[in-house]
Amino acid sequence: MRVACFSSKSYDRQYLGNASQIAGHDWQFLEPRLDATTAPLAAGFDAVCAFVNDKLDAPCVEALAKTSVRFIVLRCSGFNQIDLVAAKKFNLRVARVPKYSPYAVAEHTIGLILTLNRKIHKAYNRVRDNNFSLEGLLGFDLHGRTAGVIGTGAIGSTIVKILHGFGCQVLMYDLFPNEQCRLYGTYVSLPELLTQSDIVTLHCPLTPDSFHLINSQTLPLLKPGSMLVNTSRGALIDTRAAIESLKQRHLGGLALDVYEEESELFFRDLSEQVIDDDVFSRLLTFPNVLVTAHQAFFTREALTEIAKVTMDNLRQFASGGKVDNEVIGGGS
Ligand code: NAD
Repeated sequence: MRVACFSSKSYDRQYLGNASQIAGHDWQFLEPRLDATTAPLAAGFDAVCAFVNDKLDAPCVEALAKTSVRFIVLRCSGFNQIDLVAAKKFNLRVARVPKYSPYAVAEHTIGLILTLNRKIHKAYNRVRDNNFSLEGLLGFDLHGRTAGVIGTGAIGSTIVKILHGFGCQVLMYDLFPNEQCRLYGTYVSLPELLTQSDIVTLHCPLTPDSFHLINSQTLPLLKPGSMLVNTSRGALIDTRAAIESLKQRHLGGLALDVYEEESELFFRDLSEQVIDDDVFSRLLTFPNVLVTAHQAFFTREALTEIAKVTMDNLRQFASGGKVDNEVIGGGS
């Protein structure tokens, strides 16, 4: 199959390029982000491969449908970036990589928690500056603390086990509880989780129901001084409300790998440019905010698995059969 891979980076060329050679597909790696204006670049291809910040809204899907493209392979697990109603209307099938390495995201989440708590990012810079003072670096033991995990699917359940291993008391909230997780923690209501946790970490998908799950109504429920962590999707948190809570000294720490307006920022080197996003810039001024640029998935194992499953999705589509990882949506 001929595949146009949008938003491609050097690591995509390496991992997807190697896997596609073995699978016998013809891949073209394109740097532009996929949206309605760039969709015509897919003319002549059978499929497009898209990532988290490609914008597959209705106009983009319609533009793709006017080309030869019949299949959209997402090289990620989340599918909030695609209008599935439009995909169905224009007869474009969609597949994703539902699970590749929950460990990659879970371990990065733990890295953020430890870094923000023990201020390792500050200590790193201090020591390189021959400043060996400990003033301002005081943290807390994770052991014995209460950690709240929202969403206990592949990633959330891995986090639950790790936090249990640290000696945390784990509280969990999910629309569909995971029986295995009950060995390591207790399911409670969302308000109970928010009011009792020292650390709250988000691992549910972004859906219309979970949009701004953490907002000006739910933030005050958090324990004063608690830490909020989001490695799932940016729009789970109303960023402006989080900034207000930080300014009021209510939220004690915020660790983010995702940000609701990240598509204009992340996965690019903007170090020589003026950042127009004042909300994001305000976030970076807080000493108790830590941001990484959507890198939680970024391990060799995860990229290898993403490439493998993406090739499987293409093979199944090309053979005309069922595609196991097809995203079915868009209503009737
Ligand atoms: P999953 O489908 O295995 O688990 C999601 C869980 O969330 C399910 O148990 C589901 O019942 C629950 N859920 C759904 N809506 C909910 C709601 N409103 N409230 C509470 N729980 C709800 O997904 P996963 O593989 O664990 O991934 C979770 C999310 O992590 C993905 O949706 C994706 O957005 C994000 N992710 C981020 C990165 C990254 O690099 N930062 C990488 C992979 C995935």
